[in-house]
Amino acid sequence: MAVVGAGPAGLYAVQSLLASAPGIGVDVFDRLPTPYGLVRYGVAPDNQKIKSVTRVLRAAFDHGNQVRFLGNVRFGTDIKRADLLEHYDAVVYATGAQGERRLGIPGEDLPGSCGAKDFVDWYSGHPDAADRDFLLNATQVAVVGAGNVALDVARMLVRSPGEIASTDVPDRVLDAFRKSRVSDVHLIARRGPVQAKFTPEELRAMNDLADAEVVVRPEDLVLTKEDEIRIASNRNLRTNVSMLREWAERQLRGKARRIHIRFLQSPVRILGEDTVEGVLLERNALLADGRVRGTGSFETLALGMIFRSVGYQALPLPDVPFDEAGSIIPHSEGRVLNENGRLTEGEYVTGWAKRGPCGVIGTNKSDSAETVCNLLADLAGRDSYNDTEPGRVLALLDNRGVDYTNWVNWLRLDDHEIQLGRRQGRPRVKIPVLRAMLDLSRG
Ligand code: NAP
Repeated sequence: MAVVGAGPAGLYAVQSLLASAPGIGVDVFDRLPTPYGLVRYGVAPDNQKIKSVTRVLRAAFDHGNQVRFLGNVRFGTDIKRADLLEHYDAVVYATGAQGERRLGIPGEDLPGSCGAKDFVDWYSGHPDAADRDFLLNATQVAVVGAGNVALDVARMLVRSPGEIASTDVPDRVLDAFRKSRVSDVHLIARRGPVQAKFTPEELRAMNDLADAEVVVRPEDLVLTKEDEIRIASNRNLRTNVSMLREWAERQLRGKARRIHIRFLQSPVRILGEDTVEGVLLERNALLADGRVRGTGSFETLALGMIFRSVGYQALPLPDVPFDEAGSIIPHSEGRVLNENGRLTEGEYVTGWAKRGPCGVIGTNKSDSAETVCNLLADLAGRDSYNDTEPGRVLALLDNRGVDYTNWVNWLRLDDHEIQLGRRQGRPRVKIPVLRAMLDLSRG
C-alpha cells in the first residue's frame, strides 16, 4: 500500500491496515521530512497535551521495514500518481487541506491582512513559513471567524512571553512574541454564540491566560427562541453559552491584554492605504434558520492587523480527481471516483481531503477505518496482486535524485529538537528551515 500524507488521517489508516491485514507492507509518503501533519504544524504550540497523540500515531512505524516512512517526497513531482498505481496495490490519499478560504472583501490583500494558516505555519515552525516574519507591532488586532483555529490564533496573540517560552516555537518566533505590542484582539463572529463552531474545551482554555482576559458584550448574548431550543438539547452549546455569559458578567481584572469576542458582525471592507488601518463591520441579524442578514448598521474598528480564520480548503493533487465545488477528492465511502462519478481502481481517500476541513484529530480514526475497510474488501476480490519488490520504489526515487528521508532520520531530528528544548527548559525547539531539517536528520 502507499499512503500519501503522514498526518493523523494517514497514520490512522496505516494502523487500521495493520490491524486488519497484519502482513501488509505500507509506504507512507510525506512532502516534509517530519510525520504527524497538523499535530506538529496545526495544533497550537500552547496545547502540548493534544500533541501527545503522537505517542499513539507513531505506533504505525513500530513494525520495522513493513511500514516505511518516505519523507521529503513531493507527490506530483518526486512521485506521481501513475508511479504509485504502478508499484502498489492501493493508494490512500491523506493529504489534508493545504489551502484556506478567503473573505472576498475589498482590502483583503493589504499588508497586515493575513490568513490564519500563514500565521499558524509560522508559529508552528513550518518550513513553508521559513522566510516569513510577523512583526507584532499593532496593539489592536482582529481575527475573523468563530472556529477553533480563530481561538488558537487569538489565544496565541495574547499569551505572555513567559507562556510562549514554555512552548516549542522556533527561537525567532519566540523573539517576535517577546517584542509583541498586541494588547487587544477582537474575535469577529458573523453569527451568534449558538452558531459558533468552537468547542467548549478550546473556549475554556481562554480562562488559563496568564496576562489576558476575555471581554464579551452582554447585548451579544441575547438568544432567539430557536437558539434556546438548540441549546436545550446540546450540552456543548450550553457549556459555550454559560462560559460566555460568565465572561459578560465578570468585571475586568486589569490584565494587560484582552480578547473581545464580538458576535453578529461581518467585515465588509478592510481599511487602509498602504497597510491595514481598520475594518468596517456590519451588524448582522440572526434569521430563524441560523443564517444571518446584514442590518445596514456599520461600525469602524481601528486596527493594525487582521487575520482571516474562516476555514481551510483542500487543494487538487496533480492528476488526481478533484471536486472543485466541494473542495474534496470525490469519493464513495473513501473509494475515489473519477470525473464521471465511476470508481477508480486502487485509489482511496481519508481525512480532510475526503470530508472537508472539519472534526478533531480523533475524527480521523473512524474516517480512516471506513476507507481501509472498503480498500481491503476490494483487494480481497482481486485475482492478482502487485509483486513490486520494495527496493524498486527507492530506486525510482534515487534515479530522480529525490533527497528522501526515512523514519530513523526523523527520530534523529526529533531528538535534536528535544535536546535543544531541554537546554532551555522547553518541550522542544522546532527547526523551521527545510535544509537544516534535512542536514540534522542525517546527523
Ligand atoms: P471552522 O470550524 O469551519 O470555522 C470557520 C469559521 O469561519 C466559522 O465560524 C465560520 O462561520 C466562519 N466563516 C466562514 N466564512 C466566513 C466569512 N466569509 N466571514 C466571516 N466568517 C466566516 O474552521 P477552523 O476554525 O479553521 O477549524 C477547522 C477544523 O479544525 C475544525 O473542525 C476545528 O474544530 C478543528 N480544530 C480543532 C482544534 C482543537 O481541537 N484544539 C484546534 C484547531 C482546529 P459560519 O459558521 O457562519 O460559516
